[in-house]
Amino acid sequence: MQTLLALVLTLVYFPGGGWQESEARAAAAQAGQILGQCGIAPVTIELVRADVDARFRVFHTPSSRELARTLQPGKPAVFFVDGTRQRPAFEAEAIGRGNSRSRPELRDTVWVIKGARDLEIAIAHELAHVLMDSGEHSEEPGNLMRDETAPENTRLSAAQCARLRDTGFANGLLVPERR
Ligand SMILES: [Zn+2]
Repeated sequence: MQTLLALVLTLVYFPGGGWQESEARAAAAQAGQILGQCGIAPVTIELVRADVDARFRVFHTPSSRELARTLQPGKPAVFFVDGTRQRPAFEAEAIGRGNSRSRPELRDTVWVIKGARDLEIAIAHELAHVLMDSGEHSEEPGNLMRDETAPENTRLSAAQCARLRDTGFANGLLVPERR
């Protein structure tokens, strides 16, 4: 039997922003349940309330680097932002190791924009990118890593789970669950 792995997820929530704290917590917990198929225990949530200037509530590499540098959140971290200034503008975005060389503060973070569709699936998808440290997508029907998120796309293959567990563990993002 495979060891159950624990995921401690830091949520960065902005009081006064577009998200409700309860909404962020619920979506993160549901995203964790989707990753449960890979032997990940229900997530432990650590909430960071970022009472910061409104400009930091929008994802944009320069200001978001500054924010992450100041907050130093535990990783992986999910930021619940109001919008994005990135182009192309994604509803949700992940920054792993491979795409963070020029922006190390953003390593192992996920950014979700208010109004993102299929929220818990989008978060699970982006977290899977971070945990696998891979930007790869799958063509398989019903797979969580399909390019487009959809309510029915929730499955991960055995190979994807193995990579998620091994890489996530190697990068210190997953730890053996203590009973
Ligand atoms: Zn993706």
